Amino acid sequence: MTGIWGQLRGFWKRPRVRIVFWAALTGLAMGISGLGLPLEDYLRNVRWMSRTQPASGAITIVLQDSQTLIQLGANDITHGNDADTINQLFAAGAKRVFFDRSFSMPGNPIDDAKFVAALKAHHGKVVLGAAVDSNGQMGNFAGKIPLQAYRDHAGMASVLVRHRPLNQNVQLPYASGSPAGKIPSLSAAIAGIDGKTDELFFPDFSIAVSSYPTLSYIDVMRGRFDRSLVRGKDILVVPAAVTFNDIHSIPGQDINAPGGYFHAIGADTLKLGIPREYGWFPAYLLVLVVIASGLGRGRVLDIYRFTGLVAVVGAVPFLLDYVNVQVEVIPAFSVALVAVIRMRNLDRVEEAGETNTGSGLPSVQALRNSPDLSTRVLVALKIRNYGGIIGSFAEHVEAQLAKEIVRRIRISDESVLIYHEGGMFVWLSSIRSTFDLFENLEGLHRIVQNGIQVGGIDIDLSFNCGIDSEFDRPLSGRVASAMQAAEEAVRNDELVYQHDARKHEAQWEISLLTSLDRAIDNGEVWVAYQPKLDLRSNRISGAEALVRWTHPERGPISPDKFIRIAEEFHRIERITRFVINDAVRVAVELERHGYEMTMSVNISAQLLRNPGLPGMIAEILAAHGLSPNRLILEITETDRLDRSSKTFQMLQRLVQSGLRLSIDDFGTGNATIDYLRYLPASEVKIDKTFVSLMESNKEDLLLVQSIIEMAHSLDRVVVAEGVETAKVLEMLTGLHCDLVQGYHVSRPVPFRDFLDFVSGRRARLIG
Ligand code: C2E
Ligand code: MG
Ligand code: MG
Repeated sequence: MTGIWGQLRGFWKRPRVRIVFWAALTGLAMGISGLGLPLEDYLRNVRWMSRTQPASGAITIVLQDSQTLIQLGANDITHGNDADTINQLFAAGAKRVFFDRSFSMPGNPIDDAKFVAALKAHHGKVVLGAAVDSNGQMGNFAGKIPLQAYRDHAGMASVLVRHRPLNQNVQLPYASGSPAGKIPSLSAAIAGIDGKTDELFFPDFSIAVSSYPTLSYIDVMRGRFDRSLVRGKDILVVPAAVTFNDIHSIPGQDINAPGGYFHAIGADTLKLGIPREYGWFPAYLLVLVVIASGLGRGRVLDIYRFTGLVAVVGAVPFLLDYVNVQVEVIPAFSVALVAVIRMRNLDRVEEAGETNTGSGLPSVQALRNSPDLSTRVLVALKIRNYGGIIGSFAEHVEAQLAKEIVRRIRISDESVLIYHEGGMFVWLSSIRSTFDLFENLEGLHRIVQNGIQVGGIDIDLSFNCGIDSEFDRPLSGRVASAMQAAEEAVRNDELVYQHDARKHEAQWEISLLTSLDRAIDNGEVWVAYQPKLDLRSNRISGAEALVRWTHPERGPISPDKFIRIAEEFHRIERITRFVINDAVRVAVELERHGYEMTMSVNISAQLLRNPGLPGMIAEILAAHGLSPNRLILEITETDRLDRSSKTFQMLQRLVQSGLRLSIDDFGTGNATIDYLRYLPASEVKIDKTFVSLMESNKEDLLLVQSIIEMAHSLDRVVVAEGVETAKVLEMLTGLHCDLVQGYHVSRPVPFRDFLDFVSGRRARLIG
């Protein structure tokens, strides 16, 4: 049982099998729904248009034309007129006379008597029309039948016509229902055929309307006509004046003619043989068999076979028309069309390099051969030691492993087409932003790291990625770049490398970020301490903790650079936790050495929006047993900080928990005195650019002076950072600045050096 299911599932997985299935389903839907009927009729008309044949010659049409009405001076023909005409026709040797008109209403008594007499004189040779009763039963039912008095001597036949969807065509019944039971249709009556009420046929419109001999009714009635056209013939009397409102376009003939011609042509059609209709199924089945037989050869349907198939399916109906056989071909066409279009799509992927035989995924070669441009980021994911992994397992494992990898890639990069070659998986990502993409790849890395289960075996995987976003280059070139970048990422042991000649910076940023987490773990990231000198007591009263990253190859990386990237990638929390933890630990150690100092740490504006911040700080303080008032949080002024903002509320919470706030880089933003007034900070740090320039520049001096005064008026402690010379130190002392920080006092140094520095200073002071 499972064996059969397994086989079926395997079968279904073959894309070509699915193509045949969907093509078959589309055709079936077309056939059943009849959606293709207007098109079918159009094709039928084209076929008729291309072929003409004359009428049998056994029927002559008598037209109740406008001339007739004009000469009678009436707007309709009376039963008296009909009596005269009938008598004239039979006198000329007519075989039978058929009326394409209904006789359900009596005329005036004199006319009626005359009419009945004429019918009686030619008993059984006149056939009167029965029409749809618009107030009665619809469908193939002729509710308006001739009066009983007429029927005593005349036959009756249904004049019903079925118009096809969009009026592209007409069909005729063989017989219709009526209040008097089944009656033949007019065409069946003329052709002498006894048919069923539930069958319709197409008149053969290759029979030309113009080939029917015609006479004008008024001429016949008045005896002025060519008797040879009547002798031995069936006569069909047809309302033809425009006022009878029975003019129709004749399918396949590009002319308008009275509806009576439908019956004449229908009758001649039936005389040629009973038309047979096989509907849409045979052509549908034929096409389906042809494309399914292509399955074995793996092609299903190429464009040549498609053209051939369509030509055959299109041409056969032409031939069948000659033997009165009708088939419908639109469902068959739609099967072929769906199959060929889907096959072409599949081909496009496969043609170039075909499928990767190991994994069943499209081959990377297909991308390489593509001259297309794409505005998507191209990702090349390289599984490390892929060959080794595949080599050590059974053959089918590769396909399963590839499937698992594809599934994981698609978790975050939905429905992308993934190409495969060796250990490389390549795709055009649906993720637009490089940053988001990077985060996704990181997530993917975490998932894959946990191992992949294939056929009960755990496989440990790790990968590196190369990405390329040079959208103006053809994919062929970009594949190489992305793969190259992936190799580079492997060499540098970084998760992602971006290949982009012009965006060197971006590549650098991304590679930095990849190694940041690792750098924190293995000690490349550390904290430097820069002393703050209290000018009144001339003692070191605190330090600012400044993060440092000493990259093993690149050397020191400026915090200005990696802090910004860490902020962009939401890694700032991890760094800050690390710095605060170190600063608090250091403060406790200083205490043990007899120094009671404040520790300043920098807090990114982004982190102030993180509700977990107070908890994180409290946790660290508690772990080391340090009082919160020893920690100063340096924040840089942000542009808009109104009292209702989340950030403002956060600052209040921090202050309420006993922490101190300092406004860093004061003067560089657009802070006002008002801002200074309502911000719950106890300290203001004048930005180093003003401080270092105050020596030479009067304006900077004035600015520093006014900041100090302003801050003092609000009871804030003032720190000047960037003090590089004794001169500046002296000037600041003169301006009553409270604290200074800068290279003149000390550069930011490792804690050991900092400790030496403060103890040396004390020794010096004491000495
Ligand atoms: P900041 O908070 O204004 O730090 C002062 C910067 O001025 C430090 O740069 C320091 O080395 C430098 N500096 C100190 N004295 C002098 C001097 O006399 N002359 C000159 N020209 N510069 C001096 P650094 O260490 O490169 O840090 C740059 C910025 O990076 C810091 O500016 C701060 O905004 C940020 N930062 C540093 N560590 C962290 C951290 O742990 N977290 C966060 N969020 N940001 C940090
Ligand atoms: Mg700072
Ligand atoms: Mg600063």
